[in-house]
Amino acid sequence: MALRNILNEDEELLRKTSREVVNFDRRLWDLLDDMAETMYEANGAGLAAPQVGVLRRAVVVDVGDGLIELINPEIVSKKGKQTGSEGCLSSPGKYGLVTRPMKVKVKAFDRNGKPFTVEGSELLARAFCHEIDHLNGVLFQDLAERMLDPDELEEA
Ligand code: ZN
Repeated sequence: MALRNILNEDEELLRKTSREVVNFDRRLWDLLDDMAETMYEANGAGLAAPQVGVLRRAVVVDVGDGLIELINPEIVSKKGKQTGSEGCLSSPGKYGLVTRPMKVKVKAFDRNGKPFTVEGSELLARAFCHEIDHLNGVLFQDLAERMLDPDELEEA
């Protein structure tokens, strides 16, 4: 495993649409392992492949309940709403107020190409939405009602 460089929000590549993963092979596994290591090293709750310069539909998420890998993920249902602070490893020190669904159901493939469905609520739902947005070139700033000052974070 190796740490990868996390692209900054200004990088053009973060605005591109990522392509589907078609080969569930060693190259994908290395990418996923590196992404997880990079996310943990940066104390993040999620990381998408384009953030490490790879335009493939792969994300890793861990909101404290274990690592979840999503390949070619699709949100198949959404319920409710939550508004709260959100940040991004590509935008260090920046936070915004973003409204997301309270619950989502995501269809995806695991690293071996096996399909599965996973549900997330609250923080996990937010992380799924945020990371899947990255695969479509969308950043949280695009959706933020407004950006937050650091001293507002606890209230948000
Ligand atoms: Zn992000």
